[in-house]
Amino acid sequence: MNKTEDIQNVCLRRGIVFPTAEIYPTISGFFDYGPIGTLIKRNFIKYWREFFVQGENIVEIDGSTVLPEAVFQASGHVKGFVDPITQCKKCKGIQRADHLIEEKAGKFVEGKSASELTKIIKKEKIKCPNCKGELGSVRVFNLMLKTDVSPLGGQTAYLRPETSQNIFTSFQRVFRTSRLKLPCGIAQQGHSFRNEISPRHFLVRVREFNQMEIEWFFDPKDEECPDFDKIKDKKINFVTHQIQKKNGKMIKISGSNLIKKHIIPSKWMVYFLIKEFEFYKSLGIPEDALRFRHMLPEETPHYSKGNFDLEIKFDFGWKETVGNSFRTDHDLKNHMKHSKTDLTIRTDDGKKVLPYVIEPSFGLERTVAGILLYNFKGDKERGWAWFKFPAKIAPYISSVFPLVGKDGLPEKAKEIYNSLKKDFDIFYDESGSIGRRYARGDEIGIPFAITIDYQTLEDDTCTIRNRDSKKQIRINIDDLKDFFDKILSI
Ligand SMILES: [Zn+2]
Repeated sequence: MNKTEDIQNVCLRRGIVFPTAEIYPTISGFFDYGPIGTLIKRNFIKYWREFFVQGENIVEIDGSTVLPEAVFQASGHVKGFVDPITQCKKCKGIQRADHLIEEKAGKFVEGKSASELTKIIKKEKIKCPNCKGELGSVRVFNLMLKTDVSPLGGQTAYLRPETSQNIFTSFQRVFRTSRLKLPCGIAQQGHSFRNEISPRHFLVRVREFNQMEIEWFFDPKDEECPDFDKIKDKKINFVTHQIQKKNGKMIKISGSNLIKKHIIPSKWMVYFLIKEFEFYKSLGIPEDALRFRHMLPEETPHYSKGNFDLEIKFDFGWKETVGNSFRTDHDLKNHMKHSKTDLTIRTDDGKKVLPYVIEPSFGLERTVAGILLYNFKGDKERGWAWFKFPAKIAPYISSVFPLVGKDGLPEKAKEIYNSLKKDFDIFYDESGSIGRRYARGDEIGIPFAITIDYQTLEDDTCTIRNRDSKKQIRINIDDLKDFFDKILSI
C-alpha cells in the first residue's frame, strides 16, 4: 500500500497541493490547491454533482461561511461541539485526551465527560507522549472558529463547522421558491472550518475543508423510496454493531438484507449508501478499501435514528469520509424553537409537515486524499511515478504534442489544441523528447496524449496514446471531440 506521507511529498513536488502561505511559519491544517490540484478538485465536484444531484429532485444553494451565533446556539454547536483536551504540565503541549487514552490504554471513551477522562488518565498512568511529563485535568475545547463581525465588538459569529446549517435556516424559503415537493433534497458544496487540535495525515485532518452535503427531506409518515428496487440487490461492505464487538471483519450485504434484517431503519438511507459505494469505486478506490460502519450508540447523537460512516482504508487506519446521519426533524425543530419561525411546510393535500432529514455529508479533502493514495503508481514499472486518475476527475482529459518542434507540426498541434480546449481541459507541451512528454503527462495523470506527426499534415489523422495501456491508435482529427465525449459520458 502507498503511504500518505509519500503522496504528500509527490503533491509538493508537482505543485498539486501544498501548505498555505508556506514561505512563512505555517499554521498546520491549511492547504492550497495548485494548478493541477485545482483542476482535480473542480472535476471531482462536477462529477459528484452529476452522480448525486443532477436529474434528482434536488436543488442547490451556495451559502455564507460566516453565520451568527444564534444559529449555533440552536444547533447545539456552541455547547456541544467540543473536544476534550489535556495540557502537559511540563512541556505545555496540548493533546486530545480521548485519542491519547485510546492509543495508550486501548480504551474507547467516546461520550465520556471531562472529569471521567481525567480519572482514566490518572488511573492508567498516561503521561505526555512528548516528554513523559504529567498531564493536567481534562477540559473541553470548542472546535468552532470564532470571529467578531461588528467594529465595536460584541457581535459574535462563527465560521461554519458544517455546511448543513445554511440549508436548515433557509429551508422554508428554498422549499417554497423552488416549488419543491417531498421527498426532495437541498444540496450544498462549500468550505467548512474546524479548529482541530492536532491536524495531521495530510488532507485527512485539516482545519479548513470542503464539504458536499445533501439534506434529504421527507414526510416522516411516508418513508417510501421509489428508487429502492433499482438498487436493492447491490451489495456493500458493512460492519454492524455486532461485528465491531467481535472480530471487526466486514461483510458484504445487499440493500434488501440491510432493511430485512433491521440493520438500517430507512430505505432512503440504504439508497444513498449504495450510491456512495458505487461512486467511490468509480474513483479508483478498490472495493476492499471501502466500508460502511454503523456508528456505535455512544458515537451517535441522541436524536439520530442511526449514523453510518463510509470509511476509506488509509495506511494509518480506516477514516470517515462520508457521514450519513438520520437527523430526523431535530435541526428544523430546534431552529423553529430558537428563531420562533414556523418551519413546517404544507403538502399538496394541505397537511402540515415538519420533514425528517437524512444527510449524506461528503468530505472532499478526505476523498481527494483517498483518490491520490490509490491512484498513485510508483516508478518501478515505467521509470517514472504516475497517477491513474479516472478520466472524469483527471486534471486534463488529454495532452496535445507535436512530434517535433518544426516543419509546421507545432502550428498544426496548436490548431487542434485551440479547437479542443473550448470543450475540454487540454494540456499543450512541445518541449523535450516525445517520450519525456508522455512521462510528464503520466506524472499528473492525464489519461490520453494526442500526437501530431508528419502523417497528420497529409491526411488529418493523429495518434492517441492511452495512459494506462500505453497503446496508441490512429484517429481522424474530426473524431477527437466524439472520442472524448464518449469517454467522459461513461
Ligand atoms: Zn510534555
